[in-house]
Parts: sequence; structure tokens; C-alpha cells
Amino acid sequence: MIPTTPSATIDHGERLNRVRAEMARHGVDYLLIGPSTDMVYMLGYPARQSERLTLLMIGREGKPHLVMPSFELARVQHLTGTLELNPWTEAEDPNRLVASLVPGDGDGVTIAVGGQLYTYFLLRLQEVMPRARFVSGDLVMEPVRMRKSVAEVERLRAAGRAADAVWEEFISLPMVGVSEKEMLAHLHRLLIEKGHDAIGGGIVGIGPNGASPHHHVSDRRAATGDAVVVDFGGTRQDYRSDITRTFHVGPPTQEFRRVYEIVNEANQLASQAARPGMRAEELDRVARDHIARAGYAEAFLHRLGHGIGLDGHEGPYLVRGSEVVLDEGMTFSIEPGIYLEGRFGVRIEDIVVLTGRGAERLNMSSHELMVVG
Ligand code: ZN
Ligand code: ZN
Repeated sequence: MIPTTPSATIDHGERLNRVRAEMARHGVDYLLIGPSTDMVYMLGYPARQSERLTLLMIGREGKPHLVMPSFELARVQHLTGTLELNPWTEAEDPNRLVASLVPGDGDGVTIAVGGQLYTYFLLRLQEVMPRARFVSGDLVMEPVRMRKSVAEVERLRAAGRAADAVWEEFISLPMVGVSEKEMLAHLHRLLIEKGHDAIGGGIVGIGPNGASPHHHVSDRRAATGDAVVVDFGGTRQDYRSDITRTFHVGPPTQEFRRVYEIVNEANQLASQAARPGMRAEELDRVARDHIARAGYAEAFLHRLGHGIGLDGHEGPYLVRGSEVVLDEGMTFSIEPGIYLEGRFGVRIEDIVVLTGRGAERLNMSSHELMVVG
């Protein structure tokens, strides 16, 4: 178990101010957020996605509203100081209730809608407010959520350390004859043992299966001569871990060692190059150019990385064409890979936080090539 206890606290009032500043910048009058990580971010309330509408409605001033099923009131009593609660009963249309809270039924009003609200609700809201202008809520939420507070970085660090502890124990287990499904089961058990509250998906790719970046798991068993890619993570105190390591069963070939070294160098070069003020695509290019110079341009099949926080994948995305400017407090993965179809794959992934001095790793596990029996 990782003994790290977050000491910094999460300040929802400060988040509301930052969200309102973004709303003003984009001319957004109301922001509507359904059950999602956006709602957890704003309220700490993990409402469940269902066919019954729960909707956080943030205007430019005053208390935000929470439209919700009346029988769930007991779950949100602790929020009455900061929210207006607008319960609806089973026979009511909650979408009309939302429209009644918007002046002029939305005429001339710009409404931003969080990306994780069911389209089912969005279509109904568009029907009851036909003259409102609807825009993406990510315009508002993404720039706010991308910059983590000290408390969030602490949680991501604790999750990262817990994932490190999983890797260190996992790599000491016997591997020969063990299937991808069994390896994933070990990873899932260890994630909980080492302090995660919930497990994420996970990838184990043995031999040629490792050449497919999003291979999940199969019954294939590890044998001498196989490279194995493992990519796993979970949730700890709402925040995600995500790490990839590649190891080898029995002595690797010269070619495998060389590919491993290139990927490792690409990871380290990107990590060393990351600076506030740099565009996301420039950091992607640092790793991509290195891999291309080694002759594997076509084998690096995906972007360099993704942001991480309450979601396993969120902004910023380190990808060709992204002009997002990297800033202090952003947390993201650096995960270059080389995938040789029909043969093997190598990926090495760490999570970093960007500080004024550059990238600081939140996963500390060694990159040394592990050769297991
Ligand atoms: Zn991963
Ligand atoms: Zn990742």
C-alpha cells in the first residue's frame, strides 16, 4: 500500500471562478453538465448516467442549479450551501424544467453542453429551446481541467506510485506459459492491492499481439523469445494511473534490443524537451523525429500521448496538428512505440507533470529492459 495521503485540498469554488472566466471568454451564458467526470470535477458528486436527467447548470453568476430526480435529494443535501436544487418528479419533463430556468426559453442565449451528456438529452434540450445557440462544453471545461492544482498533482502522483508498485511486483512473477488473460488478472489484482480503488481496462500483448497498440487480451501464452507489452492503470481517489512497460521472455535478439533502445530514447528525449510554452505537436515531433531517424517512422502508429486526470484520456493530446500550448500544471503521458506487424511491439509510457523546470515524472519505474525466464 502506498502511504501517500494528499494534504492539499480540492477547492470547488476556485474551479467555478475559472469556469466562469472561460465562459465569459467564449461568450457562453450557460454551461450544462450531465453525470460525468466534469460533474465530479465541479461538485465532487458522482451522479450516475441514466435515462433520468441529472444536470448541473452553471450561469455567469449566482448559485449553479442542479436539476435532478427528486428521490435522489438525500444524496446531495450536503451541496445545498453552494447549489440551488431543482428536483423533478417522475411525471414531469425535466427538459422543460431546464428551459424554464433559462431566460426567454433560450432566445439569443448561448448554451455550452458538456461532451459527456447523452445526445438523447441534448436533442430534447434543443427541441425545448429551439432559438438557443448550442456549443461544445469542452470549449469551457478543457482549458480549465488541463491545468491541475497541487492537490490534483498529488493524487496523480499517488496513483502513479501505486502503478509503479504494481509493475515492480508483477515483473517478479513467473511468465513462461502464462496467458495474456492471466497476466491481466494479475495486474488487476495488484492494482487494488497497491492502493487503487478501481481498475482500468489494460492491455497485454505477447509476441506479435504486442504489435497492435490497442490489442486487449487473448489466451495466447508467453514463451521464450516473446516480447510482451503491458499497459495498465486504475483509479485512486478519482484520479488515474497509466503506465506501459515492455519486457522480454528469454534472451532478446539484437534487433529487439535496438528497437527497445530507440523507444526508450524517444521517451527520454520527449521528457527532457517538454517545456511550458511549447505546442503539443512540437513535443510529439521530438519523439517522432528520433524514431524516424532510426528508420521506423512508419512503425510509430499513434500520437505521443494524452492528458490524464479524472479521465484516463483527456486534453492535452500530444499529436500532429495540435496547437495547444503546453503549460505548467498539465499532466500527460509520454508513450512512444514501435510496432512491427507479425513480430513484436515496444512501448514505454510514463505520466509526467509539466513544471516551470520541465517535465517531472509521476511514474518512477525503471526503463531498464527486463529479461525474464
Ligand atoms: Zn497506457
Ligand atoms: Zn496512455
